[in-house]
Amino acid sequence: MTDRKVRVRFAPSPTGALHIGGVRTALYNYLFARQHGGDMIFRIEDTDSQRFVPGAEEYIMEALEWLGIKFDEGVGYGGNYGPYRQSERKDIYRKYVDILLENGKGYIAFDTPEELDAKRNEIANFQYDASTRMSMRNSLTMSAEEVKAAIEAGEKYVVRFKIEPGEDVKVNDIIRGEVVINSSILDDKVLYKSADNLPTYHLANIVDDHLMEVSHVIRGEEWLPSAPLHVLLYRAFGWEDTMPRFAHLPLLLKPDGKGKLSKRDGDRLGFPVFPLEWHDPKSGEVSSGYREAGYLPEAVVNFLALLGWNPGTEQEIMSMDELIKLYDLHRCSKSGARFDYEKGKWFNHQYLQMRSDREIAEMFMPTVEAKGHKCDIDTLTRIVSLVKSRVNFVNELWEQTAFFFEAPTEYEEKSVRKRWDEGMGARMNELIAIIESLPSMESKAAEEVVLGWITDKGYHMGNVMNAYRLAVVGYCKGPHMFDISEIMGREETIARLRAAIERLG
Ligand code: GLU
Repeated sequence: MTDRKVRVRFAPSPTGALHIGGVRTALYNYLFARQHGGDMIFRIEDTDSQRFVPGAEEYIMEALEWLGIKFDEGVGYGGNYGPYRQSERKDIYRKYVDILLENGKGYIAFDTPEELDAKRNEIANFQYDASTRMSMRNSLTMSAEEVKAAIEAGEKYVVRFKIEPGEDVKVNDIIRGEVVINSSILDDKVLYKSADNLPTYHLANIVDDHLMEVSHVIRGEEWLPSAPLHVLLYRAFGWEDTMPRFAHLPLLLKPDGKGKLSKRDGDRLGFPVFPLEWHDPKSGEVSSGYREAGYLPEAVVNFLALLGWNPGTEQEIMSMDELIKLYDLHRCSKSGARFDYEKGKWFNHQYLQMRSDREIAEMFMPTVEAKGHKCDIDTLTRIVSLVKSRVNFVNELWEQTAFFFEAPTEYEEKSVRKRWDEGMGARMNELIAIIESLPSMESKAAEEVVLGWITDKGYHMGNVMNAYRLAVVGYCKGPHMFDISEIMGREETIARLRAAIERLG
């Protein structure tokens, strides 16, 4: 490794919502940059105007901000290497297109889509390359005057990369080692289109990585096939010495079966594949997001960090700061990482338990209010403390706590049959008298008195306690009964007992 300053970039194309795999790419770049005291650049690769989706750029920024993935420079951040949006760098790219045309590494091609189609029909597996380029309409087969005349006549053209066949191109990848591809299989890629005066992804990507002094290109595996072409482009410009190091990250695989994790898997199995909810401006379709599903950002970060990387120990819970210390690009796996959504829930559970009861109560309060109830924050904090270990998400708290706010209107049938036997009404009336006589509803003290009463009378402990629970809660599970009655208070507890006696006899 050279002692170059570490500079990495996250360079999404604003073609829609950022997929969770893209979030992982951003995270790995961020961890790597922070670890090396380097720079993290946010670049927008929007040279394909056909695929531009309004709102996508803002979405990406909001998502990464939510997750705590920060940039040092780029779109929205400024910096000395701007502009950072490729659509604003047209003139820069044109200059580099001209360099390739001058040094003979690029050539102008006039073939229309119809002409290309005709060739494809004529020649099986047609590829625009060394074997076919001399039978096409381009600056290699036309005279300089013809080319000039065609351009002046307003004919649309592209600039193609002239790839020499028969050479083994080596890509040195930090994760995959040396990947060798023979140049004969590559086609003469289009680098620039006169129609919109814009470069294609390949040219813009290389030129920008060079000009922005990017030291490491960390990106998804889907870009690995482009890497040999990129190596050749670096060479064509004479930039081999400052070529970034590549690291192609493993694919995220479906939770079940083979292949890449897709949005359809999320829909099918019921989990989000996007960080935030996404409203597709074209189709109007709404896709769920981790934030709206109730995930804590630190849980998402931890979960994603371990999809394709591990610290080499059993440690699973790692904060962003710890990840920055422990992360090691060399420890990324080559093989795909199975997307284990259940594990994601587990992470959220862990991180939720680390938040204070008060914080969780604050997150939960809007739900309680939306259900039409008033509750002071101290009481809600106590309620949360009783049930938080039972939930993975804040939005699961309502189900666990609704009985605190709404008295039961019906009672779980099978428990009534099992527990509310002849004479239970009378015993519950006795219980009311006991509760009325309690010095306080404090959990421990109340428990002692009530259990003492059951034992003294020789009643069936399980039946009486479950009947009590049925009357107050409506069903036979939940937190410790005397903790519930302490929070609920004497009056409400007794009112619920009376109602149950009336209804169940
Ligand atoms: N614009 C590409 C993308 O959308 C960037 C690929 C790269 O990082 O080189 O992922």
